[in-house]
Formats: sequence, structure tokens, C-alpha cells
Amino acid sequence: MKSGRLCVRFDDVIGHERALSIVRVHLENNRFSGAYLFSGPEGIGKRMVAKIAAAQLNCTKEENRPCGCCSGCLKTQKEKHPDLHIIARGRSQIKIEDIRDILKQANFRPYEGKVKVFIIDNAHKLNIEAANSLLKVLEEPPADVLIILITHKPQNIIKTVLSRCKVIKFTPMVRAQLENVLIKNYALDKTSAHFLAYYAEGRLGLALRLKDAPLLQEKNKIFDSFVLSSKPLDHNIMGQSKEQLQVCLNILASWFRDIYLLKAGLNDQEVIHSDRHSDLLKSARRYSYKQLDEIIWAISESVVYLERNVNSKLLLHNLGAQLWKA
Ligand SMILES: [Zn+2]
Repeated sequence: MKSGRLCVRFDDVIGHERALSIVRVHLENNRFSGAYLFSGPEGIGKRMVAKIAAAQLNCTKEENRPCGCCSGCLKTQKEKHPDLHIIARGRSQIKIEDIRDILKQANFRPYEGKVKVFIIDNAHKLNIEAANSLLKVLEEPPADVLIILITHKPQNIIKTVLSRCKVIKFTPMVRAQLENVLIKNYALDKTSAHFLAYYAEGRLGLALRLKDAPLLQEKNKIFDSFVLSSKPLDHNIMGQSKEQLQVCLNILASWFRDIYLLKAGLNDQEVIHSDRHSDLLKSARRYSYKQLDEIIWAISESVVYLERNVNSKLLLHNLGAQLWKA
């Protein structure tokens, strides 16, 4: 995306040069058909690219497709096109009923556009019956049907499904490159851009989702309240909801990982919290590698416990006791 506006054409996409070149060559040679698997980490724009490809197929203009402004393009972007079907946003499992629906729809001709596009997001959530049922359409997809599976866990998709898809891999940006993009295209200051680029591990989509949250201030509040004063962890600063606590725990883990990396001699600019460099160095003198290992392990275990709905007050109490005993 450029300048914060909606990404409706391939030229709007930043990064993903290799993946885009494959998609564009297939589209331009009318070979973008059948089944694809878009694979790569969460929050890097796989779904965005899938929608731009769908828009190109159902754009009503003759050239320079997708134009980004015809009804075909706009409806696709808003996920309102009658020939675009997106499955599994936030569901725990994709079931056979969902796939039966695809099989039924795939038999009809497109309503408005030229191609019926089915995007199965989080395709690793296909249960075994659903995956087996999907094979029927993957085996011999009708000419006017395109299926795009999207996943960040390709290892969880059964091999018979994988082998019938053309796989396109998406990779995060180099973090320093994302930092520059956030400064140049999104007018972020260097401190915020560095933090977001490194915290999001080069994933533009995630960095943009976090950009409007006061994460930079929040994370510094956590360090000032707990790490530097060794006070017990509490809900007032860490938040009440499970989601807030998870973010705070991930931030704490990233602090200790930074210390570990600095101790190991990593370049100052490569750490996430470079804005707190002198505090990181102070902490680095306090902990041994073994202690840091144990702390990072304890925090990641706490994240798992939190997912299992353990008592969060007790969890924070125990974790705090373990963190500051060093
Ligand atoms: Zn168009």
C-alpha cells in the first residue's frame, strides 16, 4: 500500500516482488486458473494480493486491469462481488458444509464477472472431511473457477490438497526496508517506524494494524513500571482482557530477547527496542544467558496458559515472581 490508501492494483503493493511477478505473468497469459496456495507468515498481505488478482479477473475494463474503479473492482475490494466467495474468517474449523457450498456454486456460471473466485483463508483449518471433499473440485476445476487457498501453516494442509495447488510463497520484508517504507510512505517518525518494523518482523500488514494503537507508549510504560523497578506485574498496566495481556506478554518477551541478542553481540540497530538502548544495556548486566533463557521460556509458557484460560491474576503474580528473582 502507498500513502495509507486502499490497495487496489498490483502497483500499489509494496514488496512481494517475486510472488507478484508470478501472479502477474499467469494473469497476463490467461494461465491464472485452477487452484493456488498462497503461503507465508500472517499479516504480510496474501489476502490483499488474492483480492487484487480476483479484481483483475472480474474487472470490466478492457485494458490496464484491474482499473480499481469499475464496479467489478470495487465490489471485489469490498468483498461484495457475487462471484467472489471468501471462506473462514476467524472460524476455528472449515467444515464439509462450507466445501459443499463451493462445489455447488462452482457448477454455476459466473453472475456478473468472467470467473468465480473462491478464497479459502486460513486453509490449514480445513478439517479432514472438508479437505477430502475439496479434492473433487481441485482435481478438475471448471475453466471459469479459481480457488485460492491462503495459509501461514502449510504443514497442516494434507498433501493431496497441496499437490494439486500451484504454490506461491510470500515472505516478509527485510526489517530495515520496512522501517524505511513506514517513514517514507506512512510519515512515521524514526523511533515508531523502527519499533513497528522490528516488532512486526518485517510484516507490513501487521505493522499497519499496530500503527494506530499507542503501542510504543504502552510498551515503555510496561518497561518503566515493571522491568526497571521489578514491581509485581498487575492488570492495571497490563490490561484486563486476554488479548491485551497477550500483547503485553509478547512485548515483555521481546524485551528479554533484545537483552539476549545484545549480550550476544548483535548490532544495536537490530534490536526491537533500540529507543531504550541504555536501559537494555543495564538489564543485560543483570541477567545471565541461563536466566534469560528461563525468563523467555516462562513468558512463552504464560502465553500458552493464558490461551487455556487460567486465572490471569495468579499467572501474572507467578510470572512476576520468576522474572524479578534474578
Ligand atoms: Zn476494474
